[in-house]
Amino acid sequence: MGRLSEIAPGVLVATSSFALTTTTVVTGPGGGCLLIDPGVTVAEVAELAGELAARSLVPVVGWATHPHWDHVLWGRDLGTAPRYAAPAAVHIAETERPGMVEGMENSAPGHDLELFGRLVALDALAIPWDGPAAELIVHDAHAPGHGAVFLPETGVLVTGDMCSDVEIPLLDTEAEDAFGDYRTGLARLAAVSGVRQVVPGHGHVGDAAELRRRLAADSGYLDALALRQPFDDPRITADWMRDAHARHLEHVQR
Ligand SMILES: [Zn+2]
Repeated sequence: MGRLSEIAPGVLVATSSFALTTTTVVTGPGGGCLLIDPGVTVAEVAELAGELAARSLVPVVGWATHPHWDHVLWGRDLGTAPRYAAPAAVHIAETERPGMVEGMENSAPGHDLELFGRLVALDALAIPWDGPAAELIVHDAHAPGHGAVFLPETGVLVTGDMCSDVEIPLLDTEAEDAFGDYRTGLARLAAVSGVRQVVPGHGHVGDAAELRRRLAADSGYLDALALRQPFDDPRITADWMRDAHARHLEHVQR
């Protein structure tokens, strides 16, 4: 059995050994598929390509939710489909490439640099393909040009690095208004109607009630942060997240 599991008709999700990172596959007509954030290790990307081939699926379009190294991966076996991202995300992938390459080499080394982070800017309301409608919700929370994907036919919302059950909100503290950007992103996601399942970039798939719970938890985290006092969030379990939380507190205390 492979890693891909079907969470809704024609929507498959695989979860990586690295940070519970999710890959989403949406099947279209004639065996074409939309591939969102394939990852993470070289072996896992190769395994994903093998699984798609075994299911007679061929990626015809890719989407990178945001310009962080673990969301802009690809493998030669996945073919040569265009890999889109929001314009602001592509800009970051180009200008901050050295740091992204370093992040990848530190945590999931060996990816082909010719394919790593090679994205095409797409300024559109939906991903152009002949499969199920894939609407884009682009905002700047967590990273510039962060693009969630909503599949209205199945009610699946692929949120990128938002709405996780295992991670606190991770602010883009280099942004001018990291707080405002994050609140805007949460509001945009909360405004999507007809969500039946949420697929976070890291963590577990949840239902509509779980999405509401996560949106509330993330807003609550930001509210507590805004009070500028140390506090605990049950999702802070790893050292790197404790560090991120400390950075957030520093950011609000400035
Ligand atoms: Zn990220």
